[in-house]
Amino acid sequence: MAYTIVPKDLAGHLFEVSLTVQHPDPAGQVLSLPVWIPGSYMVREFARNIIRIEARSGGKKVALKKLSKTSWKAAACKEALEVRYEVYAWDLSVRAAHLDQSHAFFNGTSVFLCAEGKEREAHVVDIQRAPDAACKTWRVATSLPELKAKRYGFGTYIAADYDELIDHPVEIGEFAIASFDACGIPHDFVITGRVPNMDMDRMVADVKKICEAQIAFFEPKTRKAPMDRYVFMTMVVGEGYGGLEHRASTALICNRNDIPVKHNPEMSEGYKAFLGLCSHEYFHTWNVKRIKPAVFADYDLRQESYTSLLWLFEGFTSYYDDLMLVRSGLIDEAAYLKLVSKTINGVLRGSGRLKQSVAESSFDAWTKYYRQDENSPNAIVSYYTKGSLVALGLDLTIRAETAGKKSLDDVMRALWQRYGRDFYTLTAEGKQQGVPELAFAEIAEEVTGVDLRKFLSKHVYGTEDVPLAKLYAPFGVSLEVPVPVKAGLGVRVVKDGNDCKIASAFEGRAAHLAGLSALDILVAINGLRVTAADAADGLNSQLARYRVGETVEIHAFRRDELIIVKATLQADDVPAQQLRLLDGTKAALQTHRPTFRKAGKR
Ligand SMILES: [Zn+2]
Repeated sequence: MAYTIVPKDLAGHLFEVSLTVQHPDPAGQVLSLPVWIPGSYMVREFARNIIRIEARSGGKKVALKKLSKTSWKAAACKEALEVRYEVYAWDLSVRAAHLDQSHAFFNGTSVFLCAEGKEREAHVVDIQRAPDAACKTWRVATSLPELKAKRYGFGTYIAADYDELIDHPVEIGEFAIASFDACGIPHDFVITGRVPNMDMDRMVADVKKICEAQIAFFEPKTRKAPMDRYVFMTMVVGEGYGGLEHRASTALICNRNDIPVKHNPEMSEGYKAFLGLCSHEYFHTWNVKRIKPAVFADYDLRQESYTSLLWLFEGFTSYYDDLMLVRSGLIDEAAYLKLVSKTINGVLRGSGRLKQSVAESSFDAWTKYYRQDENSPNAIVSYYTKGSLVALGLDLTIRAETAGKKSLDDVMRALWQRYGRDFYTLTAEGKQQGVPELAFAEIAEEVTGVDLRKFLSKHVYGTEDVPLAKLYAPFGVSLEVPVPVKAGLGVRVVKDGNDCKIASAFEGRAAHLAGLSALDILVAINGLRVTAADAADGLNSQLARYRVGETVEIHAFRRDELIIVKATLQADDVPAQQLRLLDGTKAALQTHRPTFRKAGKR
C-alpha cells in the first residue's frame, strides 16, 4: 500500500491523500476508515471528514460505491487502483487531524483509508511539503520509521502493517525540538505553538528522569526500552489538556502557562500536571500499547470494542504516573500525598461511584465516560481516578501482607514479561496475546502469594470505596478531615457569560433537595447577587457567611422562568480530606524508588 499526503489548503484545512493498491481485490477493493482511534474509546466516525473521493485504474475512472458510513467498494479492476481524496482537518485535539497556516498534525486513523484484506502488508507513506511558500521552513516529527527521508524531513516513511501505520501520529511545522537519551534510546521532545522564553532544558532534564525511571521499572536488570526511539509531540495552546498514547510516541496538548519559563525554577501546579501527563502517556508504552486487554490484541476499528479492564490499563497508569514523579525525585512525598488526596476527594464527590463499578465503567466507556453530561457525577465512576485508588489499595495490601517483600510493581513486571515484552515481535502464527478479562487475580497471586479476589470483588466488580485510611495506616499516613467543615450547596458551578450556572447538582445534596438542578442560573443567595465571579471561586465567598444547617433563600432562573427555593446548607460535598505523613515516620511508603541491580554486561 502506497500513500501520499500533502497539506493542500491550509486556510481551508484540507489534506490531499492518495492511496495506490497495486493488486486490488479482483472482486472489487473495499476501503474503509476506522470509526475510533485506539486509546480514546468513543465512536468518532472519522470518514465524515472525507469530503471528496475518486478512484482510477489504468488511466480510467473507477466507480466507488458507498457501503456504509465508513466504507466504499471500488468496481473490479485489473490494474493498480489509485484512490484520491480530501480530508477536512480542523479538530484541535490529539485524536484526529488539524491543519492551518501554523502547522499540520494528523493521526493515521483520520487520513489513511484501509485497503481491506491487505492490513498485514507493508504500508508506505510519502509525506509531502505543502506548496505554500510559507511552509518552506516546516519539518516533520514522527516515530514512523523512515524509508527514504532524513530525520525530521519530508519523504517516504514505512510501516510493517496498517496497525503500525495508524499508531504513529505526525506533526509538521516550525516546531521547537530537543533531543535526549534515556537508557541509551534517543528521545525527541517537540513543542508546537508560541511559548516566549520556554525553558526547554528544564523540561528535557525532567522528562528524561521520568523515562529512565519507567524503563528501569519494567526492566530492572537490562534497562532495555521496548522501542528504538520515542517522540513526545506537544501542542501548546491557551486552554487545553490531553494526551494520547502510541507505541513509540505520544501526542499531547497543554496550556501555555503549564510550560516552564527560563529563570523561574518554581514547580507550578500546571507544570506538575504536565509532567504527570508525560509520565502517564509514557507508561502506556508498556501498559496498553504492549500489555493489552485481549480484545485489543487485534483492534476491531469498525465498531466499539468492549473490555471491562480499563481500570487496569487507565487506572493503574494513572496510579503510576504521579508515583513516577516522586520516585524520580521531581516532587517530594508531601506533594505526592497532596495529589492522591485530590484524587480521593474527586472520587468521593460523585454518588455515581455507588452505582457503577470501575469494571462496568470500563465496559460502558463508549457511551458513558466518553459522553459525559450534567448528570454524570450522579451516574458513573471514573475508571481513571477510582482505578488509580484501586491500584493504590492493591499496592498497600500486597506490601502489608508480604511485609514489604512484594508490591504491585512485581505484578506489573509479571504482566509485562508474560504479555507485553514480545507483543510486537512474535510471529504472525503464535502472536499477540492480550490479557484475558479475568486473569489479573491469578497472576497477582502467583507473583505475590496474596489472594486479592475479595478486594477485587468489592472495589473493582463492586462499588465499595477503597478503605485508604485503613490501608495507609500501617505506613504512617493518616487521612484527616478538616474542622470546621465548610457549608456547601452540593453543586459544581461554571461561568456562563456574566452569570453563574449550575453545571452539576450532586444527588442528595442541598441544592438537589431544594429543587435546583443542573443548568439553572443562580441569581441571588439571601438577596445578594450571584455573578460569574462567584462561579470562579466555587461560591466560596458567598457561602463562607453561613454554617452547616443554616437555611438560605435562593433565586434562580430555569430557562427564562424565575424560581425561588429554600436550601439547607450541608457539609461541603468535597470536605478536602488530606493525606498526611505522620511526624517521625520512617516512611515505608510505596513512593520509594526500589534499588535496582546494576545493568548487566551488554
Ligand atoms: Zn491513559
